[in-house]
Amino acid sequence: MSIRQLQHVIESIPTSDGAGVKLRRSIGSQRGLYVDPFLMLDEFSTDNPEDYIAGFPSHPHRGFETVTYMLEGHLLHEDHMGNRGDLKSGGAQWMRAGRGIIHSEMPQQTQGRLRGFQLWVNLPALEKMTPPWYRDIEPHEIPQVTLAEGGSARVIAGSINVAGIVTPGVITGHATEPIYLDVELPNGSAFHYYLESNFSAFLYPYEGALQVGAIGQSRELKPQSAGVLSHGDQITVVAQEGPARFLLIAGKPLKEPVVQYGPFVMNTQNEVEQALRDYQNGTLTVIDPA
Ligand code: MN
Repeated sequence: MSIRQLQHVIESIPTSDGAGVKLRRSIGSQRGLYVDPFLMLDEFSTDNPEDYIAGFPSHPHRGFETVTYMLEGHLLHEDHMGNRGDLKSGGAQWMRAGRGIIHSEMPQQTQGRLRGFQLWVNLPALEKMTPPWYRDIEPHEIPQVTLAEGGSARVIAGSINVAGIVTPGVITGHATEPIYLDVELPNGSAFHYYLESNFSAFLYPYEGALQVGAIGQSRELKPQSAGVLSHGDQITVVAQEGPARFLLIAGKPLKEPVVQYGPFVMNTQNEVEQALRDYQNGTLTVIDPA
């Protein structure tokens, strides 16, 4: 049994995206700052409508998945295929852009707090040009389990085993076998999670700090930073200076070349240039007849 240590910390940096939505970006905040297969993690958290009201108007994606998880607020998703998805507090959306999607993600509120996350998950080369797919996840569809030593976890993707009872999350069976948990721990509580030892994994505390790693060798991870973990088959964290809330995100690394140009993430420069041309020509989303 090997316990994962906190290997390095990617602090989040205030930035803005879309039409001026203020957010904090950790993974993906600099060119090449990936945790394979994860390309980006944004946290948006503000009470000020001016920070979010302009939203993310029509924009494209190709070659990866976006996962939006809302803690508070209301976001409307609309895409070029006429799909509409309403993301409300506690809900999520898992979208595979595949060959191409053009969509908007717009706040539906003019007051109050908007709080949530967007994660970008890379796709293997073989799936980058597949048809788009998405799943809107209602808050009640996300299993919430009580943890052995206190606290609870919501299981958006992957699964969790508590005292021998395995609870699957909503999303399972994707190529990168993503694990996406939202965990709440009371002060002093420990949490252990077992996973494939070669999976990439990171923690993102968004309230409170965590002690990460084996007792006696643990390191502190401050809030609003992505703590990237070493390999090993067990994650151990303790909430030590008050209650903590954090995301645990893990997945199977693709070990393929990553070439990114904004919202296009492919394997080669040529493929990225093709994506840009397809977008300019209006064929980004056109699925070739079989
Ligand atoms: Mn988008």
